[in-house]
Amino acid sequence: MDKFKQHLDWLDSRYTHSLELLQLWCSINSFSSNVEGLDAIALALQKEFSTLGGEQKWITLPPRIDIGPGGKAKEMASVKALHITKRPNAPIRFLLAGHMDTVYSPLSSFQKVEKIDEGSWKGPGVADMKGGLIIMLNALSGLEKSPFAEKIGWELLINPDEEVGSVGSAYLFEEAAKRNHAGLIFEPSFSDGAFVSARKGSASYTIIARGKAAHSGRDFFQGKSAIYALSQFIAELEKTNHPESGFIVNVGYIEGGGPVNIVPDFALCKVNIRSTKDDKIKNFIHTLNQIATLTQQREGIKIELHQNTERLPKPLDKKTGLLFDHLKECANELKIPFQLRESGGVCDGNILSHAGLPTIDSLGAIGGQIHTHDEFILLSSLVERAKLTLLFMLTAQEKL
Ligand SMILES: [Zn+2]
Repeated sequence: MDKFKQHLDWLDSRYTHSLELLQLWCSINSFSSNVEGLDAIALALQKEFSTLGGEQKWITLPPRIDIGPGGKAKEMASVKALHITKRPNAPIRFLLAGHMDTVYSPLSSFQKVEKIDEGSWKGPGVADMKGGLIIMLNALSGLEKSPFAEKIGWELLINPDEEVGSVGSAYLFEEAAKRNHAGLIFEPSFSDGAFVSARKGSASYTIIARGKAAHSGRDFFQGKSAIYALSQFIAELEKTNHPESGFIVNVGYIEGGGPVNIVPDFALCKVNIRSTKDDKIKNFIHTLNQIATLTQQREGIKIELHQNTERLPKPLDKKTGLLFDHLKECANELKIPFQLRESGGVCDGNILSHAGLPTIDSLGAIGGQIHTHDEFILLSSLVERAKLTLLFMLTAQEKL
């Protein structure tokens, strides 16, 4: 530990710059569908991450198809992921990853960072996860300045589509999983600093009901209501929730119909499921098909199912447990409290874990209320978590 002390202490000098970056990066709207905003944050990231050296490239992702209003498939413009590799032949190699997109649309009122008090700020993406990207940058800067860097290889991946399920970038994680010994992802910790031990899996679907329009006064019984049909579908969906096993089915969005004197011929809903079991996630499509068959017993009704995303559960397996043992030792050295807790949230750690790479995916900022207009960060974590990450990388070789 003593031989690393000056390199860990050096990270304290990064605090002011970290605050400047947080202010700057969070004021750039990088909503997952905001292509210009994603280009702008990409430029800002490139400026900082270029200081680390290594081989840098931008990877254009395959275009994303979104089911937009009216059930119409809409192709999104292509967006890019940042990829840097340094010392790919070193004896120990880490994948450090994060995402540049956020959940806040340019139309939302939440666009700027605000001070809460001396130790915390709120703002879009402060914790999830522009703060995390700063921690990643700080940790790698500390590594590159140290004489120990030559034995440690790293690969950095920052994707632009995590908040919409990483459909376009998942393959980059799967490939990188094969080239590294451990994955480090800078999603936020819990607000009390606890790390995420295991995550549920998640999948999302769009369900469209189509019927037949008719004047509700003159021809009501000739019409086939898509809204009645979809309502039946949703009522069946609700029954598939299972509180005992933690299986969750949430209908998060609904759309359809128009003037009330017309029988609606279109209705759509979007659904997200969560489970700790692989097969529950993979097999839910069969349940959806069964409900579709039932609903289509209504004359003149057609149901369409679209799967949008799928990320399988991330269990706390033996290999991941070893990483946490090592992280705990590092936290003890640095006098950082160490706790582990499960989360229902998914992230790219799910993809890495499924691809066989043991991963710690909550090394980012300490913060909370993410995905709300009260998202906040504890500023001290910008340096503290960087020290923890750096010590983890410097001492991993003997432990892993
Ligand atoms: Zn995130």
